[in-house]
Amino acid sequence: MIEQLKQIEQEMTQIRRYFHENPELSFQEVNTPSYISKYLEKLGVEHETKVGGRGVVAKIKGTGEGKTVALRADFDALPIQDEKDVPYTSKVPGIMHACGHDAHTAALLGVANVASRNRDKFKGEIRLIFQHAEELSPGGAISMVKDGCLKGVDAIFGVHVASDVPTGIVGYGYGPVMANADDFTIEIQGKGGHAATPHVTIDPIVIGSSIVSAFQQIVSRRINPLEPAVISVCKFIAGSAFNIIPDTALLEGTVRTYSEEVQEFIIKEMEEIVKIECEKFGGTYNFRYGKGYPAVINHEEETTLFKEILEKQGKKTEVKKPKMGGEDFSYYLKEKPGAFFFVGSRNEEKNAAAPHHHPKFDIDEDAILHCAEGLLGVALAYLEK
Ligand code: MN
Repeated sequence: MIEQLKQIEQEMTQIRRYFHENPELSFQEVNTPSYISKYLEKLGVEHETKVGGRGVVAKIKGTGEGKTVALRADFDALPIQDEKDVPYTSKVPGIMHACGHDAHTAALLGVANVASRNRDKFKGEIRLIFQHAEELSPGGAISMVKDGCLKGVDAIFGVHVASDVPTGIVGYGYGPVMANADDFTIEIQGKGGHAATPHVTIDPIVIGSSIVSAFQQIVSRRINPLEPAVISVCKFIAGSAFNIIPDTALLEGTVRTYSEEVQEFIIKEMEEIVKIECEKFGGTYNFRYGKGYPAVINHEEETTLFKEILEKQGKKTEVKKPKMGGEDFSYYLKEKPGAFFFVGSRNEEKNAAAPHHHPKFDIDEDAILHCAEGLLGVALAYLEK
């Protein structure tokens, strides 16, 4: 079956290029899910559309009872102007596949093609989850899970092309591979006045500065040094003139963690600091903390299985340091055991070296076959286990 994927490599590349030319933004996908549905229909694969909004879920049953293994590909694009000079440049102004989700979906359709023609060669079910809206919180995964896409599933696997990993290599990790990516906003209400009479004002700049300073001690003094955590204040807006103490100050930033425990602890500590510093100076505040996607945490057994299959296929695997970025694949892994791997797609010679979310982002298209081989390979191995 893996050999058969090679025979349709050209077709998968064409599908990827079609998606690349016709990208759609998160929560606005119409043509993409319809293309997926038509392709599955042609294969005679039972599937459901509009799952959790715009997702498509296909069920490919083998011959005989067995486990159910799910494979996921996302299919949304980004609000970025494509600046590549290639025959398959985006035809939609201001929108492009700058993260490689087009490749994930093309690869999973390739898996559908081969698996559906070989139902006599496996037991159980291969469930294909085509997910909309990965790029925009709250994301498509959470609603697809709520809508039952994981019902009866025993394990789930997913891949992402990686512009920092050379083609032919697959990056992986045990445990956390991507972070909790959160944001916060703090509005400080003071009392403005003349700069020459600070004693009759409540200076929000001084309060804000104290808060920023105190935040530096959360990670350095309150968190176990073996637990990754980042608190960055990235925006501090206050004031309008050199001799006026303003009324308000606005702070914004991000928090990145891997464990929920550390995340909750930081939220508590931050709010405590904001409260204390405001009270000390007589100001008031509004603290808003927004949780982004939870951390992607790979399960041990499934990670080992995936890694071994890739190596059997002759691919090089490499342990990757966890990334501080976010991914909503985490919602599947909160429900079911599984693993998320990073398939190398970097190749300077093919102009595929720009980072993800960059106007010149592109992949080495050899990675499409690698994604398909990895996904189908691990699914079959899981069902045989
Ligand atoms: Mn992505």
